[in-house]
Amino acid sequence: MADRKEKTFRFVIVGGGIAGVTCVEQLSSQIPSADLALITAGPHIKAVTNYKQVSKTLEEFDVEEQPSSVLEEKFPNLTVIHSAVKSLDTQSHSLETTDGRVFGYEKLCICGGGRPKLLTQDNPYVLGIRDTDSAQEFQKRLSKAKRIIVVGNGGIALELVYEVDGCEVIWAVKDKAIGNTFFDAGAAQFLIPSLEADKPERAALCKRTRYTTEEPAPGGSQTFTADRNARRQGTGPTEAGSALGPDWHEGIVLRGAEQGTRRVSLEYQCEVEQIFTSEELLKSPQQTLRPENVGSWPVYVQLTNGKTFGCDFVVSATGVVPNTEPFLHGNNFALADDGGLQVDDHMMTSEPDVYAAGDVCTACWEHSPMWQQMRLWTQARQMGWYTGRCMAAHVLSEPIELDFCFELFSHITKFFNYKVVLLGKFNGQGLGLDYELLIRCTKGQEYVKVVLSGGRMVGAVLIGDTDLEETFENLILNQMDLTRYGEELLNPNIDIEDYFD
Ligand code: FAD
Repeated sequence: MADRKEKTFRFVIVGGGIAGVTCVEQLSSQIPSADLALITAGPHIKAVTNYKQVSKTLEEFDVEEQPSSVLEEKFPNLTVIHSAVKSLDTQSHSLETTDGRVFGYEKLCICGGGRPKLLTQDNPYVLGIRDTDSAQEFQKRLSKAKRIIVVGNGGIALELVYEVDGCEVIWAVKDKAIGNTFFDAGAAQFLIPSLEADKPERAALCKRTRYTTEEPAPGGSQTFTADRNARRQGTGPTEAGSALGPDWHEGIVLRGAEQGTRRVSLEYQCEVEQIFTSEELLKSPQQTLRPENVGSWPVYVQLTNGKTFGCDFVVSATGVVPNTEPFLHGNNFALADDGGLQVDDHMMTSEPDVYAAGDVCTACWEHSPMWQQMRLWTQARQMGWYTGRCMAAHVLSEPIELDFCFELFSHITKFFNYKVVLLGKFNGQGLGLDYELLIRCTKGQEYVKVVLSGGRMVGAVLIGDTDLEETFENLILNQMDLTRYGEELLNPNIDIEDYFD
């Protein structure tokens, strides 16, 4: 491959997502004279816009798809190559693209992202949602659908079941509560009424309590209905659209073939056992439906709780797998258990001069006690930015230390129309049984959970407009001993901001 090099760039970045684009921007601004190439499979790039630093570690921004010319105009030394990387030879420092071109690099950063972990490959009735194309395909199929099954319990599933109108949704989650990736059963219970409510409920009496929650029985189910049209006329947050980004679903209408009411049925603690067509189902020895009930749907899903449902199609929202394949063959990359390219605290992989950032990589340095990796926009941006700085520092022989953003996990998002802020070990991750929870909940208004370990705050979940994020962020960062405050910490009558000033 080495002797076919069309050109050698000082820096090559693969992937036009948030991580790759942020890395390009950082490198170009630090070393404007450097010859730099962005190789990306898609026609567009994803750019961060309206960036806002909310507090020391919390940030908010929009994600917009833009033509790559926008980036090239901004950075004259940048060449954007629209083709997918087919193979990489780390020995000769060269990559080959699917259109047969070979490029050399001095330093390479792989930002190839991830792809949906599909329940099953090549089944036309199973859809994953990743990018604009797959979101549009979902929208098209949904417009003709009367019932869909959503499998998964992460952010995408949460957003989908809330947003879909005019189509029955059966939501299969493997856990005891919804949203397990982001919060606990208590927060899930706080959010569940939103699935049946037309508008945000009125604030009920504020109660403060230790953590307790009733869980549905294993394999149990719950059904919620709501009239979305009524909700739209309400005074809730605006429905202004944007490109596929953190608010990806707001730019597209997610409406099924039916009018009016939304209906979400939950199937807890179950996974997909098998997916059948009508004919396959009739022949299956395990089939539990009466033959006259078979045939009305194109596809049937048997769950591990023994129930079988027919539907128009299945949405597989069970996470992502890092997109590493094109880069592995013939090289010696260390891979993490989740399949990501292992990177150290300088975002370097195990191959010389090869860095990685975003969903494709797994952070394998010794993490700060309050940080964990989650494959999110925020971390893709932070990693891309920090990798750009590391690459520049290395070629300029300057020292560089792990950035402050990796001190504390922080994420702002929106679920079921509520603002959600997650800080530190918000679910007691890695703490075993060595933690205590304080909870304040005002039905329909806010849910505040604090995770304390050894009397110090190590994490928090804030749902609703609590205004507590900055104070809690400080308390987590400064590790003040809060033992003497006890439950007063969440007393709604105390202005906690003044308290700790
Ligand atoms: P990506 O954005 O996936 O970009 C990867 C890039 O690499 C793409 O441009 C692709 O074309 C390119 N590429 C891949 N392979 C090759 C190759 N071989 N050669 C050349 N180019 C290649 N996160 C949040 O924080 N909040 C949310 O609300 C949220 N919602 C989401 C909703 C959906 C539907 C999905 C799918 C994800 C969501 N995420 C959300 C997660 C977030 O999208 C990812 O964490 C983030 O996009 C990762 O950025 P990245 O740059 O690492 O990868």
